[in-house]
Amino acid sequence: MGQGLEDLAKIVTVIPDITGLDREFDYSVNDSLAWNKNGVPVGFDQLEIGTVVNITIHNRKARGWIVDKKLGSDREVIPLTSLYSIGPNQDTVELCKWAAFQYGGPIRSFLVAGSPKRKLIPSEGSLSRPKLKSELKSMKLGDEQNQIINEIYSPNGAVASPKIILRLPPKAGSFWLIQAMVERSPLKTLLVVLGNHNRVHEYETKLTNARISFASPDALFLDHAKYQVVMGLRNAAFARIENEQLGGVLVIESDAYSLKSDRAPTWDASEVLLKRCEMANVPCVLVSSVPKVTQLSSVRLHTIDRTRERSLWPAIHITDANSEDPVYAPFGPDLTEIMRDATRSHQVLVIWNKLGKVRSLVCKSCHLPVTCPNCRSSLVPSGEGSTMLTCELCGFDQAKFCQKCGSTKLANYNRGVLKVREELEKILGPTKKVSVVTKDNQDLDGEVIVGTNAVLSRVDNAFAVVWPDIDREILMPNILAVEELMSNLAQAARICPSRAQDGSGGIFVRTRFPDHPVIKSLLLGDPGIIANFELERRKTLDLPPFKAVAEISGVPIKIKEYNDLISKVDLLVLGPSPSGSYLLKANSDMELSQSINQAKMSMKSSKGVRIAVGSIS
Ligand SMILES: [Zn+2]
Ligand SMILES: [Zn+2]
Repeated sequence: MGQGLEDLAKIVTVIPDITGLDREFDYSVNDSLAWNKNGVPVGFDQLEIGTVVNITIHNRKARGWIVDKKLGSDREVIPLTSLYSIGPNQDTVELCKWAAFQYGGPIRSFLVAGSPKRKLIPSEGSLSRPKLKSELKSMKLGDEQNQIINEIYSPNGAVASPKIILRLPPKAGSFWLIQAMVERSPLKTLLVVLGNHNRVHEYETKLTNARISFASPDALFLDHAKYQVVMGLRNAAFARIENEQLGGVLVIESDAYSLKSDRAPTWDASEVLLKRCEMANVPCVLVSSVPKVTQLSSVRLHTIDRTRERSLWPAIHITDANSEDPVYAPFGPDLTEIMRDATRSHQVLVIWNKLGKVRSLVCKSCHLPVTCPNCRSSLVPSGEGSTMLTCELCGFDQAKFCQKCGSTKLANYNRGVLKVREELEKILGPTKKVSVVTKDNQDLDGEVIVGTNAVLSRVDNAFAVVWPDIDREILMPNILAVEELMSNLAQAARICPSRAQDGSGGIFVRTRFPDHPVIKSLLLGDPGIIANFELERRKTLDLPPFKAVAEISGVPIKIKEYNDLISKVDLLVLGPSPSGSYLLKANSDMELSQSINQAKMSMKSSKGVRIAVGSIS
């Protein structure tokens, strides 16, 4: 008692930038810290939370982020070595803390996403740079657009509904939304996050023409000017913008799976941004042609007139392949014809995805793929040499036979991209070049291009996009496969000619399930059909959005240690799967996050355990 403030030690809490070390350490700060040798000293009061600093930890030199400042009586704390670089700001650090809890991952991975890629030191000039002013080109909105803007903002400018998802068809365009939202609050910053890097360049040109000031998240570290738009890909979710300066968030193509990290922690930019807007109390607008059901469950949906929505999908051509032989006529006459029409300026893309170990079985006598009666995904052999078939989604099993005709003669049906090209070259002859896009081959030169989904983000325009065997993807025993497919179909729709432009191009799909909800949704330009199907299926399987899930995988001995801890809390643990992973289920995100963090904290080290929140493979 009676201790004066000046007697207290100035302490910062630091998260080291060391993989696998997910802990906080305290350091004391004296007032002689400076950004460089001759620089002005930075006092404790000016020291920004988020700053990257040099520290020693167990006699080792390392870097870390300041995540907290306090006064304490502990005089034994070792001193901070020096300042290293500008990092995220305090509001972004708070967001990183939330994300670390939500996804049960180290806060370090989020701080990295919000930090500059190289060392950046503030200079005198950068701090005094004046605020950018720009005159907006005024724009006139149509009725439909006005309706949307009124959904986002109430007429008097107060926030009416902070979270909204706009279902706009692929050919609708969404740049006007950026303009309209900037016009609403021209002195604040609109954060625009995109799922497709091709779109970044397209929008940069449009922003310049519209005289809207904009920057990439990287520019914000040194530049204290205020911009009307900050735009980037997934990591832009952690852009260095203060809550006070943030005017709103717009996520374009929120269904894009590039917005979700597939490495643990498996965070989703849309989810992080919904939280960010909640913290800053500003509107969050997600735009998607095919909204994900997890987003639909937490955000209000706005749709446009159905007839208009359908008209803004390109022409869709469905071929019923039931009368063809899958082995000897892999493309069918319709698709072959469209590929014969291909030219350099009218390219045809053939989508053929690698499905990994998935062994899809086809009946040799009626040619129908063998599927699960509950969830319509592929049935696979229960094990090496087994006479049984299993559904990897719901666990249904049956003997090896075709449900339609009773035949027990089933054939393995799988081929790679190179094999497909070979077959196409045979069919099309030497007058057409068939190029292939794979990891090591980026040839976009042919009249016909065969490749995985990746092709769709490399090509800006195509005459037609063809799925010769969409059933392989529809039937994949992976709950996320259908939404990923819808997202790819929407992306294909964006690069195809519109209905009005050319009736003979568009999306071509060959299927043995013409009544499947994916096909119906596509044909009618109605994503509501597939959303209802997904919701039903997930309800039956107790999956998100009805339950919160996380997949636990990694080193077997560490998984066991983790599972022993997690089984003490009231959580459903399913598994192990054939690959040794476990699935945790909880009633809410909060319950799940609390449990996985609790278990992680009880472990000496969580190295070797991969926690993937929201993943079901
Ligand atoms: Zn059959
Ligand atoms: Zn099933």
